[in-house]
Amino acid sequence: MKAAAAGLAAPFAFGQGPNIATVQLGDNLFLITGAGGNVVARTGAQGVVMVDGGLAQNAGALAQAVAALPNSGPVRTLFNTHWHPEQTGSNEKLGTAGVTIIAQENTRLWLQQNVTWPWNGQKFQKLPKVAQPNKTFYDKGTLDAGISYGYISDAAHTDGDLYVYFSQQNVLAVGDAAYGQGWPVVDWWSGGWIGGIVGGLQRIQTVANKDTKIVPGRGPLLSFADITAQVDMYGTIYDRLNQMMNKGRGPSEAVEAKPAKEYEAKMGNPDEFIRRSAESLWAYLSPDA
Ligand SMILES: [Zn+2]
Repeated sequence: MKAAAAGLAAPFAFGQGPNIATVQLGDNLFLITGAGGNVVARTGAQGVVMVDGGLAQNAGALAQAVAALPNSGPVRTLFNTHWHPEQTGSNEKLGTAGVTIIAQENTRLWLQQNVTWPWNGQKFQKLPKVAQPNKTFYDKGTLDAGISYGYISDAAHTDGDLYVYFSQQNVLAVGDAAYGQGWPVVDWWSGGWIGGIVGGLQRIQTVANKDTKIVPGRGPLLSFADITAQVDMYGTIYDRLNQMMNKGRGPSEAVEAKPAKEYEAKMGNPDEFIRRSAESLWAYLSPDA
């Protein structure tokens, strides 16, 4: 799934920080990798617009990389594609500087509370007020002539996923609603579920066209064809898990049945993904259980 990266300028590395590198995606538009999650930055006279902010420990290095971009300037707007720490680590720094932080309303709600994932006990601290999104929306919006954004309401990864579309460069940033490498984390605690992964990818196909460069939350760029292949793969796995659930099979039985068998060679060990996906089906279809 690396086809879309071909033909781009070679990444240029920055000296500081944790392997931060930049690739130009189009006029005044850049992909910055190495901050903990993919970051997109648009530069220009109006100030910088960023999609996602990496991990908090890398916020300083990321800010330096953004400042070094061609036609850079002060950051004016930051989008959070969802609430996870790999996306919201620059919120405090930029929020303190007065930056507009845009998120879907559910993302703001998650960032206002402490979260513990039940499957591994991992804890996430709520963000201070200044770091929380200060401009939220429910459905969609337009930032300027070149940027539109919208809710990926399928709960592909969380119940607050958003996309940002840069029309002039034909680049679509989708956060973890699509993965560029490896099996997705199925965060069913935040509403994400295997059926939503399929629905989210199909929604991405309605926003993108065949030439769109799609920026996932992690891993290399995806093409429209890559998304189509993912719809097929996750759709197949979803159907198999659904059938098992209808027969009353639990998550451990789902893992043992190897419903992702033909994809393992390319994608790696799916056990964690299958277990979370099966749990997500139970969570989605029996929310009061
Ligand atoms: Zn995530």
